[in-house]
Amino acid sequence: MAIVATTDRAPFATADPDAVARFLTAGGEPAYRADQARTWFWRQLAPSFEAMRTLSPAARAQLAGGYTFSTVAEHRKREADRGATVKYLFRLQDGRTIETVVMHYPATERGRARTTVCVSSQVGCPIGCTFCATGQSGFDRNLTEAEIVDQFLAASRGLKAQQRALTNVVFMGMGEPLNNYAAVVAAIRRWARPDTLKFSPRRVTISTIGLVPFIERLAAENLPVNLAISLHAPDDALRSSMIPVNRKYPIAAVVAAARAHAERTGRRNSYEYVMLAGVNDSSEQAGRLASVIGRHLTHVNLIPMNPVEGSPLHRPSRDRTLAFQRILQAAGISTTIRDTRGLDIDAACGQLRARELAPTPAG
Ligand code: SF4
Repeated sequence: MAIVATTDRAPFATADPDAVARFLTAGGEPAYRADQARTWFWRQLAPSFEAMRTLSPAARAQLAGGYTFSTVAEHRKREADRGATVKYLFRLQDGRTIETVVMHYPATERGRARTTVCVSSQVGCPIGCTFCATGQSGFDRNLTEAEIVDQFLAASRGLKAQQRALTNVVFMGMGEPLNNYAAVVAAIRRWARPDTLKFSPRRVTISTIGLVPFIERLAAENLPVNLAISLHAPDDALRSSMIPVNRKYPIAAVVAAARAHAERTGRRNSYEYVMLAGVNDSSEQAGRLASVIGRHLTHVNLIPMNPVEGSPLHRPSRDRTLAFQRILQAAGISTTIRDTRGLDIDAACGQLRARELAPTPAG
């Protein structure tokens, strides 16, 4: 992979408003140009500094000389599910790539239509879950706050032409978000500011493999985000074989920390459970899962596994998945089977990037 030089211009998304005003006035522009630029950037979702029409050409040029408009650049874009799923491969300034996925969900009797962006928090992932393409491709680095914020903005700009806007954010792309705690929390706070997007943390879900100390820290943040715990197994022996970090943070500790977070924030926990045929899908395992997580402030998402090229693992039959769901529901646990998106565009995390990085077959 060609690594390009990193620019030393500061990202505009995380620039201090006063510093922008000082920068513009030093170049002879009135200070109010900084407010205009921020309105264009955050509210109008302008596609570039050049498109900020009410700014003078000199002010636009000055901004472009001093700040990076976006730290993520669209490298590839693919659609599936008749346009309901859009998957971006973004190139970062150092030449590395990450994935961001936009998913549209129609209104149902349970709620309004939603448009969710699934953002990445790291380039690759150090956790190494056996069923995950990202985990198998290794870890490069954490994303910066700006790289996380800019994924949201780039997706929003893409939606603007369709007169759509994002309603939810999930940290379920590449990486373990709590492993990049400071940047993830800063990005959520940045989106929520009254002078940016006013995007409520209640509409943000952090998906974690269960890094207990960081779940505890998050509970103390006064940040009412939703937590989705990637559990995937009802007992420690099986979970440790799939998720090595379970040896450090076993299921009971993860569930206790998640419960404390739910009590503190009033937000319901969701437990993610990738259904793997013959591995974690038996009726007995469903019963054990119900007793481990309990039903208070709890929801389970069953996720039939997306195929991973070269993996012997596969999803159970629909009947088996439904039987598993019925056992949880009979125990009083609200349970949904997730609509897995974009099978035809490599929707399991890391697969689009894995393909980009794979050597081209000879001949
Ligand atoms: S499932 Fe999540 S935590 Fe596990 S390797 Fe993949 S990205 Fe990392």
